Amino acid sequence: MKVNEIFLSIQGESASIGLPTIFVRFTGCNLRCSYCDTVYSYYEGEAGTPEGIMDVVRSHGIGRVCLTGGEPLVQPREEMQRLLDLLAAQQYEVSIETDGSIDVSKVSLHERQRFILDMKVPSSGMSDRMDFDNLKRIIPARDEIKFVLGTREDYQWCLDLIHNHQLLPERGYQLIFSPIFGVIEPRTMVEWLLADRLDARFQIQLHKVVWEPTQRGV
Ligand code: SF4
Repeated sequence: MKVNEIFLSIQGESASIGLPTIFVRFTGCNLRCSYCDTVYSYYEGEAGTPEGIMDVVRSHGIGRVCLTGGEPLVQPREEMQRLLDLLAAQQYEVSIETDGSIDVSKVSLHERQRFILDMKVPSSGMSDRMDFDNLKRIIPARDEIKFVLGTREDYQWCLDLIHNHQLLPERGYQLIFSPIFGVIEPRTMVEWLLADRLDARFQIQLHKVVWEPTQRGV
């Protein structure tokens, strides 16, 4: 495995927003989103092992871990599974932020582990790379689907996706809408969601409000 950084911060996104979380950022990503804010994770990093990562995680003294990147699922499958097994054995709550393009069934999750499936919208330049079968592989009540939007056209793309795949909250799907930081006014997006009576969670990237938007390791 190759690890870019491990740090303690607050979770800036997802249903765990605001909660203290240890972030394990892996090196490498198979996508190149137009708005990517972690370009430094594409190549920078050190070789690591699941056991070595656990040592660092334990040293932070918090029971919540987010595996992110880059794209964590480009790491070797056996090692990623071993890390998930070790985290489960020690009762960590785990979220895996994945970019929607890789088969999530590549790894098996334990109790208290979940995916944040980041479905890339057209303005990311990566929407045609999505593996839409992931929408059938996730477990609605467990996993979350995140959309990061840059334009009104992105929003319409999401509505079409939700309709076509029946990703409805009444069927248990947990939807998150977030504006690309500094591109869409939060108020504008909230007004879209309310006008459509969409039962989705609105969020902004909280860590970019607390710290400087470009700051690393937070
Ligand atoms: S998936 Fe994430 S890390 Fe990869 S290019 Fe897109 S925003 Fe950057």
